[in-house]
Amino acid sequence: MNSRILLIEDEPGLALTLSDLLSSSGYDVDTAGDGISGLAKAKGNPYHLILLDVMLPGRSGIEVCRELRQSGSDVAILMLTARSQIVDRVVGLRTGADDYLTKPFDPSELLARVEALLRRVHKENPIAVVRFEFGTVQVDFEKTEILRNGKQVSLAGKEVQLLRYLIEHRDRVLSRDQILSDVWEYQPNITTRTVDVHVSWLRQKLEENAQFPKHILTVRGVGYRFSA
Ligand code: CA
Repeated sequence: MNSRILLIEDEPGLALTLSDLLSSSGYDVDTAGDGISGLAKAKGNPYHLILLDVMLPGRSGIEVCRELRQSGSDVAILMLTARSQIVDRVVGLRTGADDYLTKPFDPSELLARVEALLRRVHKENPIAVVRFEFGTVQVDFEKTEILRNGKQVSLAGKEVQLLRYLIEHRDRVLSRDQILSDVWEYQPNITTRTVDVHVSWLRQKLEENAQFPKHILTVRGVGYRFSA
């Protein structure tokens, strides 16, 4: 899945150049030409990153940034400022922007900053997975369809949730407590033993050999790690 970027920039030429640059680098880009429509788009759609010009008609970039943060959004924000707007940079960062870039900038510099910010975002907030493949298993969470060697596997609701959680946090060591709190949300009478039992069920249904799992791995003394 491509990262989704919203570009809020009122200079049509620059907006077009940046939008082309980002699209050709594999990003899905939306654009807005003023602060008001930009803010509306940012609030109404899930973006991974917003490129936000400071000097905008309608609402300034500073105001857009402040309002997004106040509404609880933690989307990555990269501010674009003119060289003369040093004060804006400081205010912007204080308002909650993650980084800023001074115009005019080199396209490669912009791409590097965007990539760095997105790496951080994806680490902290894994992107919802809809379809995924590992080993001989194909998963479609939208249809809740799980196939192993092309044959349907029946998973209970919690097993599906756990599998999805493991996949979305793949290659990370997850403690039993963390899994319990995120997947079971501390229901009464549920202990970390529940996690172990569900992991064992998933292994029996999805691993070639549940005794020697290749994907749902045990991290001794800690918990589990999913590897595709
Ligand atoms: Ca501008």
